[in-house]
Amino acid sequence: MASGGDELNIIFVPYLSPGHMIPMIDVARLFAAHGVIATIITTPSNSLLFQNSIDHDINSGHKISIHQIQFPHAEVGLPVGIENFSTLTSPDMAPKLFYAVSMLQQSIEQVILDRKPDCIVSDMFFPWTLQVARQLGIPRFVFHGSSYFAQCAEHSVEQHKPYLNVESDMETFLLPELPHKIEMMKLQLMDFMTPADEFSKFMNLIKETDKKSYGTITNSFYELEHDYEEYYKRVMGMKSWSMGPVSRVVNRDASKKAQRGNKSAVGEQDCITWLNFKEHNSVLYICFGSLTKLSGAQLLEIAAGLEASGHQFMWVIRKRENDEDPWLPEGFEERMRESKKGFIIKGWAPQLLILDHPAIGGMVTHCGWNSILEGLNAGLPLITWPLFAEQFYNEKLVTKVLRIGVSVGVTEWTTSYDGQKGLVRREEVEKAVALMMGGGREAMEIRKQAKELGAAAKKAVENGGSSEANLIALINELKTVKQGATARDKFNGE
Ligand code: UDP
Repeated sequence: MASGGDELNIIFVPYLSPGHMIPMIDVARLFAAHGVIATIITTPSNSLLFQNSIDHDINSGHKISIHQIQFPHAEVGLPVGIENFSTLTSPDMAPKLFYAVSMLQQSIEQVILDRKPDCIVSDMFFPWTLQVARQLGIPRFVFHGSSYFAQCAEHSVEQHKPYLNVESDMETFLLPELPHKIEMMKLQLMDFMTPADEFSKFMNLIKETDKKSYGTITNSFYELEHDYEEYYKRVMGMKSWSMGPVSRVVNRDASKKAQRGNKSAVGEQDCITWLNFKEHNSVLYICFGSLTKLSGAQLLEIAAGLEASGHQFMWVIRKRENDEDPWLPEGFEERMRESKKGFIIKGWAPQLLILDHPAIGGMVTHCGWNSILEGLNAGLPLITWPLFAEQFYNEKLVTKVLRIGVSVGVTEWTTSYDGQKGLVRREEVEKAVALMMGGGREAMEIRKQAKELGAAAKKAVENGGSSEANLIALINELKTVKQGATARDKFNGE
């Protein structure tokens, strides 16, 4: 029910994929920590992923809760418990999950209409929440879970279509009108940027809906990408509040970091104990996010490259099902265990906890926005290995704008279900690792820059920091809106 008086009642509707869900839960917890009554709508298995964190917050006196809705397993033919894109065990489950997600619309709408919140924060993939917000006469905010830079770069590509002026997929072109000189190849663009397929139409609907919403909440901070935040507002005409890095604010102690997102595949203490014996900045952390499953052949190349580099590592492995290729060199695991050179995690890793350990000195990342922010929070230099979604744009931000990373050299965009096109060879892995973890001049400059950005990230969310100020300003604005809200046409573009 809408809260009376000054209290704000906000409903959060996260998407069923960790890269979107994890940061939105952090956003909800952040609002609750500032006195907002926060309700998160999700399905039973997904709620288990963050119930502990919510219980923690409730015990600290925050008014936050989960509203569960049923998941249509039987109707779509998915096994019980498969309710999230990270839990799919075969590519043919993906369309079923998409269908199931679309079936949730009615239940979610009903919960929102019954509870009559003062505001909705919706994932971008639920454009229909705009209609519910309009029906209730309340503001709707959209959450993308990506960087300003990626959205601006995509806008530049869409508006100017620079890929039409090149003769081959590998020829580079400039992204027009961006604040920095950014060059890309056609191969690195998302497939749906070119043909007008169904997904492209859906993405257009999302963009139209975004523009009609009250604004966006962005997991970024002004000092990180202010040129692009300004471009987003001025050129793209969007209203936005930067609140990040959200992971830092609500997961300060070790238990919160360890519990975030899922149950770890290894004992948290085992990782930490292993790292405790290592020198500062001596271990490379390698992770490709929550969805990517690499082929056996690619894992083999990574293992060989890591071993040849001689550097220490902690590697999170998710292998493709039904891939019979050998995927680690003979005796690799034993050698790494005995020499204490490498720690392998097969499954979910307590990433936040690991990244904040002083022994970690760098990160190989697929350039998911959350992983970049989390690495950056910890002041780490990055080796970029983009695969799908907006990750090739994020790579450019890291390597060309922020200058906190080097590219391993992936050239071709793919989808999260297809894994990776082509192979990154062991020599390329070894070269990037040796550069980043060695003490050369380029590495030292990158490391210094990463440390500075890490310090800026901390400052942004502390008292008086830019992100904290945005959060407080938005809460105050919403209170004023709530008190003065009489006309429905004030919000959401009507
Ligand atoms: N994550 C984690 N442990 C893992 C894999 C991923 O904690 O083993 C978390 C990671 O910290 C991040 C999120 O899952 O918050 C992944 O989001 P990102 O945007 O980096 O990539 P995606 O999974 O969407 O590709």
